[in-house]
Amino acid sequence: MEIIKLFLDKNNFEYYENFDLSLISTIKLGGRAKIVIYPKNVNELKKILLYFSKKKIFFRVFGNLSNVLIIEDLDFPIIITNKMKQEVKFDNNLVTVSAGISLSKLCEILRKNSLSGFEGLSGIPATVGGALYNNAGAFGVSISDRLVSVLVFFDGKVVNISNNDIKFGYHFSTLSGFVVLEATFFFEIKKDYDIINLINEFTYKRNKTQPSGFSLGSVYKKSNNKSAGFYIERCGLKGVRFGGIVISSKHANFFINSGNGSVSDFLSLCGYAENCVLYQFGVTLNTEIEKVGNSNEINSRFSYPYKI
Ligand SMILES: Cc1cc2nc3c(=O)[nH]c(=O)nc-3n(C[C@H](O)[C@H](O)[C@H](O)COP(=O)(O)OP(=O)(O)OC[C@H]3O[C@@H](n4cnc5c(N)ncnc54)[C@H](O)[C@@H]3O)c2cc1C
Repeated sequence: MEIIKLFLDKNNFEYYENFDLSLISTIKLGGRAKIVIYPKNVNELKKILLYFSKKKIFFRVFGNLSNVLIIEDLDFPIIITNKMKQEVKFDNNLVTVSAGISLSKLCEILRKNSLSGFEGLSGIPATVGGALYNNAGAFGVSISDRLVSVLVFFDGKVVNISNNDIKFGYHFSTLSGFVVLEATFFFEIKKDYDIINLINEFTYKRNKTQPSGFSLGSVYKKSNNKSAGFYIERCGLKGVRFGGIVISSKHANFFINSGNGSVSDFLSLCGYAENCVLYQFGVTLNTEIEKVGNSNEINSRFSYPYKI
């Protein structure tokens, strides 16, 4: 880590050592990372990625940590994009943004410019980079629906990839191993008033069905075309608690940290819910959230396959 710190100090980059990731994850859980780096803009991010790539240093990039459970202290450096300058470029109805911009901020900017298409995504607490990686979506709209191209860092190079060359599916993309630097989307021109109405409608629906509180959103994907919440609720698990983690009584697929929860409470509750659903329905639940730890197995799908 000393050589990394030397590089970061020399370039005056913002970073923290032995950083408690629970402080910044939306569920307020997680281990520590030896080094957490906050690039200020796309150029800084590129410089850091190039350095790690040249030195063959394994790393991971995160946005708002709204879909990841950090299950242990991490041995490798973490890059967090959500403090990056929110760069937005307009070209008629095409909009290019940096990966670290939040979806809510982007939706606000689009509304101010009378551009429509992302209203359903405005309540997802994600960065554009994380949302593209997961192909985040809500109310029938996925982020990939309006994607034109992404600028990515891959194998030491910056490459522009068009939407056609990426596969997107249900909470899935083939962006694993790429770092999204920027993305270009297309939108439709609509009246400000209509855009506000749509955002209000989706916000109302979201607040009606989803709980507030510290969470990672939906823990499990759909199975057999039925929401995981359906199975968990039918098992009578709403309100069931393991330590400080409780299954929301508003939405059974949301596991809430009531303040003093731990990673092991969360994992135990998951195991319990999975067993109940398997026993009662014969259905195996698959997680929508990603568990992040040090094992090669966990990180093997990331193509920066270098270990320090
Ligand atoms: C209250 C709540 C509500 C939610 N509602 C929804 C919803 O309606 N629909 C939905 O789809 N999801 C929802 N989510 C889940 C979550 O917000 C999404 O999965 C989102 O895409 C994660 O974005 P992030 O920036 O937080 O990514 P992170 O959680 O930080 O990372 C997720 C993955 O993306 C990768 N990644 C992050 N940035 C980049 C980058 N620049 N380049 C390449 N890879 C990157 C990470 O390595 C990781 O594998 C919700 C979560 C919460 C807490």
